[in-house]
Amino acid sequence: MTVNINEIRKQLNRLSREDLEQINAEITEKLEGYVGLSDFLNKCAEQRFADGLVCPHCEKKNIVKFGKVRGKQRFRCKDCGKTFTPYTKTVFADSKLSLSVWLEYADCMSQQMTLRETAKKLGICLKTSFFMRHKILSALKTHIGIDYLGGVIEMDETFFAESFKGNHKKGNPNWRAPRDSGLSRQRGKQVDYRGISHEQVCISVAIDRNGGLVTVPAGKSRLTTKQLHSIYDGKIEKSSTICTDSHNAYKSFAKSVAADLVQIERGKHKKGIYHINHINALHSKLKLWMKRKYGISTKYIGNYMYWFNWSERNSHISRHRQGKSLIYDSISSMLILTRENIRETVPFCSTNDYEKGRCL
Ligand SMILES: [Zn+2]
Repeated sequence: MTVNINEIRKQLNRLSREDLEQINAEITEKLEGYVGLSDFLNKCAEQRFADGLVCPHCEKKNIVKFGKVRGKQRFRCKDCGKTFTPYTKTVFADSKLSLSVWLEYADCMSQQMTLRETAKKLGICLKTSFFMRHKILSALKTHIGIDYLGGVIEMDETFFAESFKGNHKKGNPNWRAPRDSGLSRQRGKQVDYRGISHEQVCISVAIDRNGGLVTVPAGKSRLTTKQLHSIYDGKIEKSSTICTDSHNAYKSFAKSVAADLVQIERGKHKKGIYHINHINALHSKLKLWMKRKYGISTKYIGNYMYWFNWSERNSHISRHRQGKSLIYDSISSMLILTRENIRETVPFCSTNDYEKGRCL
């Protein structure tokens, strides 16, 4: 069958905007299929060093070419003397698995498959499946960071029951389940106290009207002004308007970052033109998303918050392209944790923990 291009062009004119967008997505996807893996790698390297070559070991920029290794360009840093390729310290550096497996893995992640399902599909063990997920997520965390917010900013908190799932005796000495905790508590299914207590993990969420989005664990129990400062200092544009519920912690925080504060009373939805509807809708989405993750250990909740954040930012991308995008974004990060780092993770970090790579 021959295809009449002119006929297709004519038919395109008759289509609605939605249909055109759908076709556009399908064509882009097909075109990307033509781009081979090596092209994809080149694109990744370009993205990683978009601001010029940087040494992944010491982050200095005094770099010279230094031959090739297994077909990849090698570089040498004149400051620290170490060599690197464009993929040193990326998620798949030092991995025994090929890039195509990593891409397939990322595809499974974008389809929200469980660790077990993914392991079965790719023929890898459950442990490997777990570490691949957290390597990608820890890189994503550095890639996304904390957004700079401005204009009208909606802020609120949401809570998840603390969970010690997977915390066995030989596990992380920095994060242990309380001795008397029952099995259900270990899996984060129920808490012993009603209302907001120290058994609940607080997630601070903020969105502005320009697409800025922050979803980050603040600590246990109620949100404090100190926690707000540690998350948002230097990240709020002056003269912004912060919309929140009536929680007190925002009062002195808004004042100190020179922002106006509009607090919506309990039971009300708006005050003048201001409301917190966007953030409430986002919370419902986040709760539902987390429900499908079957009880995440609090130790890793930060990682999952960044995963949710990434999914929200990239919801316009078709499912089939999300896997590639996930790898693409994770590669631009220079902080890739090892299995040991991931095991030693603590859920809420001091600056010290963060520097040691202990905090996800
Ligand atoms: Zn260096």
